[in-house]
Amino acid sequence: MPELPEVETIKEHLRELVVGSLITQVEVLDPGLVEQPSTEEFERELEGDWISGARRRAKHLIVELDSGNFLVFQLKIGGQLLLVPPVEEPKTALMLVLHLDGDRRLFLRDETRFTRARLLNAEELEARLSTLGPEPLEDEFKNNGVKYLQEILSSRRAQIKPLLLDQKVVSGIGNIYVDEILYDARLHPRRKANTLSSEEWGRLHAAITENLAAGVEHRGTTVRLYKDVLNRPGEHQNYLRVFEKQGKPCPGCEGEVIREKVGGRPTHFCPSCQLEEWREGEQELTLG
Ligand SMILES: [Zn+2]
Repeated sequence: MPELPEVETIKEHLRELVVGSLITQVEVLDPGLVEQPSTEEFERELEGDWISGARRRAKHLIVELDSGNFLVFQLKIGGQLLLVPPVEEPKTALMLVLHLDGDRRLFLRDETRFTRARLLNAEELEARLSTLGPEPLEDEFKNNGVKYLQEILSSRRAQIKPLLLDQKVVSGIGNIYVDEILYDARLHPRRKANTLSSEEWGRLHAAITENLAAGVEHRGTTVRLYKDVLNRPGEHQNYLRVFEKQGKPCPGCEGEVIREKVGGRPTHFCPSCQLEEWREGEQELTLG
């Protein structure tokens, strides 16, 4: 499931390998892919355009075009952008082929077929991205993120995990990194945001930036489907402590990692390190 670090890795590859290319032919193989405009218009507009840049916003991969248009992908669960032909190439998984000059092809492959693409002008792009929360690896969030998180969340009674997955709160966090973040911050995923102490907001902020930066450094996490543009897995899966580690020992204590649903999502945590009743326990202790 591509989150910030995986989309960031793909974006960097596109900058290195694809920017400056001419799109000579466009084949949409799955009509469910294109949300906007029509498939015919999508193909017609893209053909003959040059790829002038690539950027990322939250989990959106944005290909900048010479015409001033933007090709925006949401890779959702299993989307892969590949410069090398998929090995077995099952026709059902291939959603789009962009033929580039120099006899190269950029394949969009997705077994789950949830990937969506849009061709937008600058105004449409801005409107589409306008509700997204701050980028956690940008300086503004790195420097003022503790205050920001407290301001927008500390009066919320919702559980902390679903709040962190809300792209309006912070951009780019999905179900893998959020479990690792909450583990590092020693916060139970069901803790209500309005019960966090100042120290816990500080720990949470540090865990967000550190985990996402490590994910980028390790070129993403491949649990199942994620591959980079050259069809290589990432390496951050080797650094996960709790995600899908249920039944395994917690690296920080004698306990065992467990898996439960929180906010409808499979959630992995250590019930000894991430105490659900931490705050209440603390208060009782204080009251004597
Ligand atoms: Zn533990």
